Amino acid sequence: MVPFRCVPMGSAAARRFRETGIDDGGNHLHRQVADHPSPCRHCLAEAVRGEAVLLGSYHFGRPNGIYWTPSPIWVHAEGCGRFEHLDRVPEIVRNRLVSVRAYDARDFCLYDLGDVSDGRDVDALIQRCLGDSRTDFVNIHTARPGCFLCRVERA
Ligand SMILES: [Zn+2]
Repeated sequence: MVPFRCVPMGSAAARRFRETGIDDGGNHLHRQVADHPSPCRHCLAEAVRGEAVLLGSYHFGRPNGIYWTPSPIWVHAEGCGRFEHLDRVPEIVRNRLVSVRAYDARDFCLYDLGDVSDGRDVDALIQRCLGDSRTDFVNIHTARPGCFLCRVERA
C-alpha cells in the first residue's frame, strides 16, 4: 500500500476566511446555519445540523495552468481542528459519491487513472492513482456538483 495523506484547506486560509469574511474570489462569504450536508474543508468532517458554516469560493491551488479551477466550499464558521491523519480517508469523502482526479508533475490530468467512486470504496482507486509513477498528486471532488473536497498526496 502506498502511504498517503488527505490534505485539507490550510489553517491560514480558513482563518483568513473567518476573520475577513471575504473569499478567494473577493466575494463576501455567505454565513448560514447548516441545514443539509455541509462538508468542512478544514476538519474534513460534515457540519452538524445547527452549526454555523461559511460558503465561499476557494482557490485551492494545483492543478495550476490549463486545469486550474476555483471551487465553492463550506468551512466551519468557528474554529475547528485541521484534519491531520496518515492513511485515513476523511468522513466527507467516505459518505458520498466522489470524483478522483490524478495529475502529473506538469499539472496535467491523467484521464486514464481517475474515476468516480462510492466514497466507502475509494481506497482502491486512491491506491491505483498514487501507485502510478506518473501521478504527482490527486484531488477528490464531489461527483455530482464537482466541488473540491481535498487533495491526496503520498506520505
Ligand atoms: Zn471544520
